[in-house]
Amino acid sequence: MVILDGMRVKPNGLLDFRSEVPLADFTTIELGGNAKYFVRCETVDEIRSALSFAEGEKLPVQILGGGSNIIFPDEGFDGLVLKVDLKGITFTDEGSYPSVIAAAGEVWDGFVKSCVENDLAGVECLSGIPGLVGATPIQNVGAYGQEVKDTIVSVRAIDRSLLEIVEFSQEECCFGYRNSIFKSQDKNRFVIVEVGYKLVKHGQPSLKYAELRNYVETRRKEAGETDLESIREAVLALRRGKSMVVDERDPNSRSVGSFFVNPVLSIAEYENFLGKLKENKIGESPSFKTAEGVKIPAAWLVENSGFHKGYRLGGVGISSNHALALINQSGTTKELLSLAASIEEAVFKKFGIALEREAVVVQRLDPYRNGSVNTKKDVTKSEFQK
Ligand SMILES: Cc1cc2nc3c(=O)[nH]c(=O)nc-3n(C[C@H](O)[C@H](O)[C@H](O)COP(=O)(O)OP(=O)(O)OC[C@H]3O[C@@H](n4cnc5c(N)ncnc54)[C@H](O)[C@@H]3O)c2cc1C
Repeated sequence: MVILDGMRVKPNGLLDFRSEVPLADFTTIELGGNAKYFVRCETVDEIRSALSFAEGEKLPVQILGGGSNIIFPDEGFDGLVLKVDLKGITFTDEGSYPSVIAAAGEVWDGFVKSCVENDLAGVECLSGIPGLVGATPIQNVGAYGQEVKDTIVSVRAIDRSLLEIVEFSQEECCFGYRNSIFKSQDKNRFVIVEVGYKLVKHGQPSLKYAELRNYVETRRKEAGETDLESIREAVLALRRGKSMVVDERDPNSRSVGSFFVNPVLSIAEYENFLGKLKENKIGESPSFKTAEGVKIPAAWLVENSGFHKGYRLGGVGISSNHALALINQSGTTKELLSLAASIEEAVFKKFGIALEREAVVVQRLDPYRNGSVNTKKDVTKSEFQK
């Protein structure tokens, strides 16, 4: 077994393995114990080397981006946490629909800002979402009427079992509401290294979302413009009002964003839900028809099951500004998951709906252990022992 002392010199001088690294420091909710090993990878080859090394050492691996949608256990992670740090954004001018390729380690909101500054429409409503580019295809991030699936044309990734680069077209990503192939059948199989987008040069900002449209309409009377820049500012202002922008001065933003996704019900499930409303003497609930079924706002379900904004349970609670954001004040992962479980139980009891968690809850050990043997090894064990 290779011994990797914390902060000691790195195998082959490239990879900076550290040991016993506090994971809370790398997550927006500031929870989690130590990673047994932790490494930042700035190139594709570094990712391959780290994966290959972990496979050789039978170390479980957890991929980490910006840590805004992930919850680590209090006991920590008994393996290697691999932080994706690949950088670079390339704009290619192709007339009205330029391509933009962004490396997985780019900060998402920085990428959005660059697009807006270059007068490229398509991601302006996704301003202020925390995290890195590489995680956005995984749950098809979305807000204020846009989703990344609307502009993504390709995703490049390393297949963890073969260490080979594969490329997915938009269709092959199988995007759905907060879902993709990377979150469903191929969960944890790939490390995304690059995402390609097609945007619209001098395009009109998207104003599909009623709350954003109303906000802008009111302001337009006062200020005029509805260009991409002003829509970005409007989205950021709306998000700040709900503590949906990470800000260390705002304790309500110490979260993973929405903890639960909005349930999408089939007709039969919706009828069952209507029956529950009647049983509970609740007149009606907000609902939206979508191509996938009837969407019920999870926030409404949470608030109508006895969990109000500002609710507290020990060191954790619910944001005072957003019923779906579970927050950490001075608590533990155990407390947070216990609060989540109480909410799930109450919603199920009252409305017959099983809430689905949006955030990734990491087990102490990596769920991805397919027993496969890597065929390509960039580094050997002895190289790491140098
Ligand atoms: C205040 C706040 C507001 C938010 N608002 C929104 C919102 O409006 N809309 C929305 O959709 N989400 C929102 N989120 C959730 C979150 O920001 C997104 O899901 C984001 O894309 C996660 O990115 P990340 O880099 O932080 O991923 P992490 O939290 O680091 O990782 C999340 C998951 O993705 C995996 N992963 C990360 N990078 C890679 C990679 N390169 N390759 C393979 N797997 C990878 C991890 O293994 C993990 O399973 C919000 C979160 C917060 C804290």
